[in-house]
Amino acid sequence: MNTSILLVDDETDFLDSINRVLKRAGYKNVRSDHDPRTTVASLEKGESFDIAILDITMPHIKGTQLLEKIKNKSPNTNVSC
Ligand SMILES: [Mg+2]
Repeated sequence: MNTSILLVDDETDFLDSINRVLKRAGYKNVRSDHDPRTTVASLEKGESFDIAILDITMPHIKGTQLLEKIKNKSPNTNVSC
């Protein structure tokens, strides 16, 4: 499936397992970031996603702050925290 999915979580084990589940389910376009600052940099470059799944408690940038940035840059992204 070509749906673009963004995963952001500082716990890399959790990130890896969700990533594996999504890939097994056929989602090929999955980006996973363990540092939300990396996500912000990609948003600044104009990258956008169909779906974003975000952790709330992360160092540097909270999930709720990241959600705001995603909604500003890419209002059509469906976000789950
Ligand atoms: Mg966390």
